[in-house]
Amino acid sequence: MTMIRCISPVNGEVYAERPAMPLERAREAVAKARLAQKVWARRPLEERVKLVLAGVARLNEMADEVVPELAWQMGRPVRYGGEFKGFNERSNYVASIAADALKPLVVEESDRFERRIEREPHGVVFVIAPWNYPYMTAINTVAPALMAGNTVIIKHASQTILVGERLVHAFVEAGVPADVFQNLFLDHETTAALIAARSFDFINFTGSVDGGRSIERAAAGTFTGLGLELGGKDPGYVMEDADLDAAVDTLMDGATYNSGQCCCGIERIYVHESLYDAFVEKSVAWVSNYKLGNPLDPETTLGPMAHRRFAETVRSQIADAVAKGAKALVDPKLFPEDDGGAYLAPQIVVDVDHSMAFMREETFGPAVGIMKVKNDTQAIELMNDCQYGLTVSLWTKDAERAAGIGRELETGTVFMNRADYLDPALCWTGVKETGRGGSLSVIGFHNLTRPKSYHLKKVTA
Ligand code: NAP
Repeated sequence: MTMIRCISPVNGEVYAERPAMPLERAREAVAKARLAQKVWARRPLEERVKLVLAGVARLNEMADEVVPELAWQMGRPVRYGGEFKGFNERSNYVASIAADALKPLVVEESDRFERRIEREPHGVVFVIAPWNYPYMTAINTVAPALMAGNTVIIKHASQTILVGERLVHAFVEAGVPADVFQNLFLDHETTAALIAARSFDFINFTGSVDGGRSIERAAAGTFTGLGLELGGKDPGYVMEDADLDAAVDTLMDGATYNSGQCCCGIERIYVHESLYDAFVEKSVAWVSNYKLGNPLDPETTLGPMAHRRFAETVRSQIADAVAKGAKALVDPKLFPEDDGGAYLAPQIVVDVDHSMAFMREETFGPAVGIMKVKNDTQAIELMNDCQYGLTVSLWTKDAERAAGIGRELETGTVFMNRADYLDPALCWTGVKETGRGGSLSVIGFHNLTRPKSYHLKKVTA
């Protein structure tokens, strides 16, 4: 029997394991989901919304178990209290817009005709979720998909193997029928076999570019709708009129929070030459204040990376950049807890350029490169010189200038004077290798449903 294992970054030992579900049993689970879907979709929208929110509330009641469990699985310090803030905000927001987002688009309602477009649930939605924000990334699809009348099957990352189980447990205890929301422990082979057999009506995959490619390959020829939310290398651009302290504070937090393991984390920063020296100096001081250590210790502000192999990628990208002439500015002596394994000190790297993998490929760690720029044209060129496009963070007092620069950027979201935040009222989306589709907002609901046109001609006597 194949076991799916979570090796804890806290101590390098197996924290949890579950047997991978055989294909035959997985097929049965999908069949149950399909059967349950019609019944679920017939229940009034308000009832479905209420049940989803009851599931969210039930999970909140489990916070004392969920928070340390998360620290053991992926290393986020317990002092941050898990993901409840964003998890609740997103769930409540999608609940508040569900009726409006799903209402029919009426074109004509006259004596002669009824013409309208209604939104229908896809059917069975498959959610494949990553470990970096395991609850928040999952709820982005799970909540609106269920509210819209789909049934949902979730397959969570091995690193956060207990998260799918927890979510389903909470929702089912709160009254969501067991076949409506199921967690399956699946290996890659079984996942691909299910997708290739057209088991699902829509798949939302959040994860790496390679993972996204595998899912797209598995789905080829099945015409299954796909939402792909993949990697990023998000830039910040600090203009000469920026509020320097606010820029340092937000961009350093965006670069290093969650040990830099955020899809929209800041990975490269371009600073106008007039502010460059001050920005770098303040940034080094900012990250030097972190306390790296065991995430279960309430004093710890920076936990280990989720797995030592992720830390190895960061170390090797930095070493490569340094070999090519870059300078790493954070003194390693400040972080004796850096063990050469999963525990990794934050780092600021300067004298970087785009010939270095560190400035082009996803780093996904608490390290950021900073480059000096002369003007907007140079900054735009550098920001667009990238295979990804999730968010950009512009720092200026001039909203018109930011909007103008935004129009030139190949990205999913343009932030001004903020970063690393997912607004549930806006569409979360990316361009280039960051994927396609969009979640949350009205558009998220539209992607989890399909249009059905009604063209009813009335017979007049
Ligand atoms: P990952 O290795 O691609 O895994 C993501 C999920 O996909 C996991 O559940 C994983 O299962 C599964 N998976 C991967 N390859 C698969 C395959 N061939 N067949 C079936 N399932 C497969 O990504 P990750 O390391 O968990 O997450 C980090 C990545 O996600 C980063 O690149 C980050 O930028 C991206 N991300 C993007 C967004 C966004 O909104 N754009 C949000 C969060 C994260 P196993 O764990 O069992 O392999």
